[in-house]
Amino acid sequence: MGPGDVFRLLWRAAELDLAEASAVRTVPPFPVVTTGTVTYSPPEGIDDGYFDRNRLIIRLCRPEPFPTPEDAPDLQTQPDVDACLLAHEYGHFRSWKSGVHTDAYVAAATALEVAQLKSGPPPTPEQAELVMREEEQAWESARATLANLGVTRWTAFDAQRDAGLKAYTDALEALGCVREGPFRDSPRKSNSRTSRPLRPSACTRSPKGSRRSAR
Ligand SMILES: [Zn+2]
Repeated sequence: MGPGDVFRLLWRAAELDLAEASAVRTVPPFPVVTTGTVTYSPPEGIDDGYFDRNRLIIRLCRPEPFPTPEDAPDLQTQPDVDACLLAHEYGHFRSWKSGVHTDAYVAAATALEVAQLKSGPPPTPEQAELVMREEEQAWESARATLANLGVTRWTAFDAQRDAGLKAYTDALEALGCVREGPFRDSPRKSNSRTSRPLRPSACTRSPKGSRRSAR
């Protein structure tokens, strides 16, 4: 079974969790709205998706035209890709919910966004490491989520995970942040930490790049 085969189930599970978290955060009594918490959206940032930690919404980014409706899973166009992406963004949500999404991480992600807009200095090596660890754990969480839903075919997932991590590595490298070791030679270990410390002298160049990022 591939990721696309569980896309509808995953979408529903994510919507329920996001709605519940949103309801808990607001003043009860609350109607738990379970639609609209996952939606399609124009491209932005490094990931092809976005977990909005302020509004508790997951956006799957795609050039227009969007699927119709925008707040329901598109099972025709690229369900494997979308399911992997949603599982990854859901991983960011779960990280936020569990408290792993610390203030330090948020500051690091913001620093990367600002640096890419050329509006601030590059992330520190420690911040760059926090960003990469969060991305890696979100993919690990994504794999666990999909496996729990019954996925057994991982080719599409592995390709998307590798591409997703490479996009962050490239963005950080463009800002002068380079990891110790050949990161790209070992990107496949989804169930174990692949993190390596960044060089202490990294992140000293001027910012490059211009897109929003960091989730
Ligand atoms: Zn991500």
